[in-house]
Amino acid sequence: MHPLDAWRVGAEPFYQEVGAEVALFEAAYARRLPLLLKGPTGCGKTRFVEYMAWRLGRPLVTVACNDDLSANDLVGRWLLDADGTRWQDGPLTLAARYGAICYLDEIVEARADTAVVIHPLTDTRRMLPVGARNEIVRAHPDFALAVSYNPGADAREMKTSTRQRFCALAFDYPAREAEAAIVARESGIAPERAAQIVGLGIRTRRLQGQGLDEGASTRMLVQAATLVAQGVALGDACRMALLDPLTDDPATRQALEGALDAAL
Ligand code: ADP
Repeated sequence: MHPLDAWRVGAEPFYQEVGAEVALFEAAYARRLPLLLKGPTGCGKTRFVEYMAWRLGRPLVTVACNDDLSANDLVGRWLLDADGTRWQDGPLTLAARYGAICYLDEIVEARADTAVVIHPLTDTRRMLPVGARNEIVRAHPDFALAVSYNPGADAREMKTSTRQRFCALAFDYPAREAEAAIVARESGIAPERAAQIVGLGIRTRRLQGQGLDEGASTRMLVQAATLVAQGVALGDACRMALLDPLTDDPATRQALEGALDAAL
């Protein structure tokens, strides 16, 4: 079994292109330039990377970054078992050694010292020092790095020394018709109903900065539509998947209820 078998993207993921991002990703990958995908949560960044990995025929090693993620979690560690100690590559080392696309989702969530381990992989050195093993891993020719980042109002900033290593693709919610097509396709509901849910989503985004840090994501709209496909009434589905998760503040909730009345 190949070490990257578990990371292959099986079937073609559904991805609706919204601009020229497919060709731009391909150009960056052709020269193995590291890519930063920036944009609000739930707008399609992860799905896009899955689609691109499938299209390029590369395995995709995805890591969801969080506060606890240490450099060792990415690089690897010695494990103790019945036969003694054995080395286990972390996801970044695995991708670099065998040639996958490594996707670090929400990189700013990782501790500052963690993000630094990617630096030598992102420039012409293309190598990863594995101190614990006294090894230098030279990146496989197929290896490439992509990271995502949500520059939302209260998001942490990405370190300049890290961000200047990347080319960036900016993402946003798809335009109304495209988003309705995505919501209909992902949930299986009729296009007219998907369009109503998207209309509500767009209204919630206008409340950004007026009670909401961010409006409803495409992901939330798909969830509302999935409830509708399951037989839940449109209003109830939107309350459950959009309005209630978005806020606990009574005044903002009331504003959202107004948006719901206007949209449905
Ligand atoms: P992000 O990584 O930006 O947080 P995701 O890629 O997980 O967001 O997108 C959330 C969901 O939105 C996906 O699971 C998919 O259902 C839907 N989606 C968003 N944009 C697209 C798109 N362009 N094509 C297909 N699905 C999309």
